[in-house]
Amino acid sequence: MHQNKLFSRTRIRLALWYAGVIGIVLGAFGFGVYAALAYVYERAVDREIESLAATLHDSLESILVSPGRTEPEIERFFPDFCTEEDCSTLRAARSHHLVSPIAQGNYYLRLLDFSGDVVAVAGIVPQDSTPQAEEWHTLTDTEGDRYHQFTTIIHTQTGADWGYLQVGRNLHDLDSYLSAARWVLMLGFISWGLASLAMQPVYQSYRQIQQFTEDAAHELQTPLAALQASIESTLRVETPTLNQTLDTLHAVDRQNRRLSHLVKDLLFLSRMKQRAVPHGCQPCCLQDLIDDVEEELAVLAVANGVKLVKEIRATEPLSVVGNEAQLYRAIYNIASNAIRYTPEGGRVTISLDRIPPHAFIQIRDTGIGIAPEHQPRIFDRFYRVESDRSRRTGGSGLGLAIAREILRTHNGRIQVQSKLGCGSTFTVRLNCDRF
Ligand code: ADP
Repeated sequence: MHQNKLFSRTRIRLALWYAGVIGIVLGAFGFGVYAALAYVYERAVDREIESLAATLHDSLESILVSPGRTEPEIERFFPDFCTEEDCSTLRAARSHHLVSPIAQGNYYLRLLDFSGDVVAVAGIVPQDSTPQAEEWHTLTDTEGDRYHQFTTIIHTQTGADWGYLQVGRNLHDLDSYLSAARWVLMLGFISWGLASLAMQPVYQSYRQIQQFTEDAAHELQTPLAALQASIESTLRVETPTLNQTLDTLHAVDRQNRRLSHLVKDLLFLSRMKQRAVPHGCQPCCLQDLIDDVEEELAVLAVANGVKLVKEIRATEPLSVVGNEAQLYRAIYNIASNAIRYTPEGGRVTISLDRIPPHAFIQIRDTGIGIAPEHQPRIFDRFYRVESDRSRRTGGSGLGLAIAREILRTHNGRIQVQSKLGCGSTFTVRLNCDRF
């Protein structure tokens, strides 16, 4: 499992995924804590305002004589108290009073008459506050600071209605605290986003596996259906002749070979995908390898009326360390394609060059060529440009996928250049010194 890239990657992603889940749990927990803290803190602030308002209410009621009018004793209780008219001048002169307990505690007080006109104020009143007669009111000043304001009716010494007392508190400290808590909460959502990002490759791998299963099932279906048809047609004849039976057996044999070939290729591809490096490595002479491929394909080339040529330009023997059988298979797949997709009278050239530290094997043909939109996909499993033609030539759509996988494990590269109707060139690059 440790060597398998898919599993290592999935393991990392799952770790991130778990981190994401924990992030959500922590996020939800944070949200709960945030809501509870916000509620408790706001309630505490409100209680504080209410209790201050109650104390002031009692003190003022013992001083106030006539409705809507302040008395000089008020200043005994509230050092920075001022009437609306003298407020601006007094404030400038008594600025030291603003550090009184009221201002220090972020409070302000206002006395209003019943028509809503401000009679007196103490503390720093938010700039854009307009008198409100509601019991609880939240307002925001021009700098964006929030205030909670409590309004209650006050009476004179004789119990007659005097007007309103308003006590407000700046919520700046509460808001900064809650904003910090919100950031913690946001981290939970960021983890959620990260988790979804980490899930993307898992989903892609899952899609690839799903696609592969569908493609493999589709490929196996064709020879199986042909087998079924051959057998059924023979069974329908009451007493089949020996020739009919032999024909059926030949058809079954053909389809069977095709099936086992397909299954072998699939197994090979699957095993290659699990490996980071090929097993059974040894120095392989590329000249010999090309000689063998040419020799084996000579019959196919003759059968297709294609001239097969080799051009070995490297003077001294070129060796790569790798699995010889696999490298042979990769070059064979590419070269046999070149022959199969080249019309009669065409030419296929296999060349070998060395540009240190690499060896380059090129397979050039004068065949049908590949349109640019198909070129990036021909190395995908089961991809065929023209499926009918490819099937006719005996292709399963796995040849180039296998070649690419083999070269990948040998630290090699394969590239294609092609022009529709003119031919294709497949270039294989291998590292001569090491892989
Ligand atoms: P197949 O077994 O069908 O040939 P491959 O994986 O070997 O599958 O090739 C994939 C497809 O690439 C083929 O179906 C064919 O359409 C295209 N192809 C491969 N080699 C050549 C070539 N030399 N010239 C033109 N088309 C090619």
